Amino acid sequence: MQNFSSTNRNDILNQLAENQFDILIIGGGITGAGIALDAASRGLKTALIEKNDFASGTSNKSTKLIHGGLRYLKQLEFKLVREVGQERKIVHRMAPNLVVAEKMLLPFTRGGSFGKFSTSIGLWIYDFLAGVKAKDRRQLLSKEQTLEKEPLLDAAEILGGGYYVEYRTDDSRLTVEIVKAATRHGAVCGNYFSAQDFVYENGRVTGLVCSDQFSAKVFTIRSKVVVNATGPWVDQLRKIDKSLNKKRLFLSKGAHLVISRKKFPLSQAIYFDAGDGRMIFCIPRHRSVYVGTTDTPYTGDPDIVKANLEDINYLLSAVNRVFPSAHLNVKDVESSWAGLRPLIYEEGKLAREMSRKDEIFVSPSGLISIAGGKLTGFRKMAEKVVDLVISKKQGQKLRSKTREISLSGNNLQSAADVQRFKENILPLLKNSALEADWADYLVFNYGENARLILEKMQNYSHLPEINLGLAEAWYCIHFEFAVKALDFFNRRTGRLYFYTDSVTTLLEPVLDEFQKQFFWTEERRAAERNEVMEAMYAAQNFSD
Ligand code: FAD
Repeated sequence: MQNFSSTNRNDILNQLAENQFDILIIGGGITGAGIALDAASRGLKTALIEKNDFASGTSNKSTKLIHGGLRYLKQLEFKLVREVGQERKIVHRMAPNLVVAEKMLLPFTRGGSFGKFSTSIGLWIYDFLAGVKAKDRRQLLSKEQTLEKEPLLDAAEILGGGYYVEYRTDDSRLTVEIVKAATRHGAVCGNYFSAQDFVYENGRVTGLVCSDQFSAKVFTIRSKVVVNATGPWVDQLRKIDKSLNKKRLFLSKGAHLVISRKKFPLSQAIYFDAGDGRMIFCIPRHRSVYVGTTDTPYTGDPDIVKANLEDINYLLSAVNRVFPSAHLNVKDVESSWAGLRPLIYEEGKLAREMSRKDEIFVSPSGLISIAGGKLTGFRKMAEKVVDLVISKKQGQKLRSKTREISLSGNNLQSAADVQRFKENILPLLKNSALEADWADYLVFNYGENARLILEKMQNYSHLPEINLGLAEAWYCIHFEFAVKALDFFNRRTGRLYFYTDSVTTLLEPVLDEFQKQFFWTEERRAAERNEVMEAMYAAQNFSD
């Protein structure tokens, strides 16, 4: 894992500039990361560049579910439901600490869009397509059982519920783990390197002009094949390649908000009708609950996407309608995020009706672009792209191996292993004076590497939660390519969304750690502080 330290940045730049690659991927979201892992593990000489931090685009703004997409069943997309349903099993096995089973409650209400009979059949098909084991298959609950699972529901409205299995993850941590795994398989991956232009020979794309955000160095990367996996930015690069045609992206914005469990003590993940036919998730996560999402057309700058007051009010009123005792208002929102779905445009359809299927475009210059799809289907999307890249003959020798890869590079193979490991580290938490519930956070985020962080905590002598933050910052700098303080607070730990208080208490100590590791000037330190504070402000304040 040594070559995944951000202190090796110059080496990465040199490797990118000096080698000729078989495949060069633009975009370090889940799609690009998955392609890098698939290609490198098949033995291709692989490079990946990301203009910001890994997972700084949509892959940090999703509902964070690895799911079969029950809503796609409503759109009769059986093949898609089946494919992603099968994929969840594989992705869970690849990272059982980070992709965890979460029982979901689907209440039926008077006049709601889900009835007992249709839900029963729908969930049965859903489980069947996803190959869910008998013990985890859907159950139908009576009114009393439904209210027992979630007492905050409105007893006057509830008729019963469906109870079925989904998987919860952290999208940006999953992306970072995939980039790390690709690096372990020999890929050269760098964040804060931006694709500026393509290099052509005889009309074929043979490389990229790339710039480094920190040194402002501009250099060329040579590669036999270039893949554009830039999500909402895919058309921008197709435009540079002069290959943007009628087939275009349609960007749809989705917002989420986070509320403390102290204010909204939800016991159970729940999927309910917002009242306008759209479905909303409320998902407990450690000390918070998050709620999402909206689905509205977006034509603004993909680099600046934010939840506005309308998004927040829409989500709050949906929650208040179904949980009347919650009385939530804007002041209760601790944090929020909004992201763009890079959908493939279909004439005459509303945002929410457009397919979430992925699609590959190959331009006359040979540039391969991939868009659409879902977090859940990243492995299969990657397999399709790499199959296309390698010749048929090679294809027989070089089949995709990603389903066998363990993501955190550790020995946790199942939910039972994860549980045992959590219990094993409890004494370490006690030694560090941390409350036991931090075990969930640590193991979910870092798998077996949690032990390394807990051991490192012994080097610090502040309050326990500050020692934890510092040990995590050290780990993220040396093993997870965190270059900026915001990489740490947002993409590596999710503290910006789920532990907002800790951002305030940890900001200066974490800036100290980064400054020490990277020899930052005071000016750079101030700029980093501002960036974190601006991100906090944007997550907590909403305009019309
Ligand atoms: P991105 O994550 O956006 O990555 C593209 C990357 O390219 C960015 O990091 C960007 O910085 C980089 N880039 C752009 N231009 C350049 C350049 N010039 N040079 C270098 N890099 C560049 N899917 C699920 O399976 N489950 C869910 O629960 C779920 N919920 C969702 C909820 C919402 C609100 C949204 C919006 C999506 C959701 N999805 C979900 C879908 C899923 O999040 C996306 O399909 C997926 O994250 C897209 O990943 P990507 O890598 O294609 O794009």
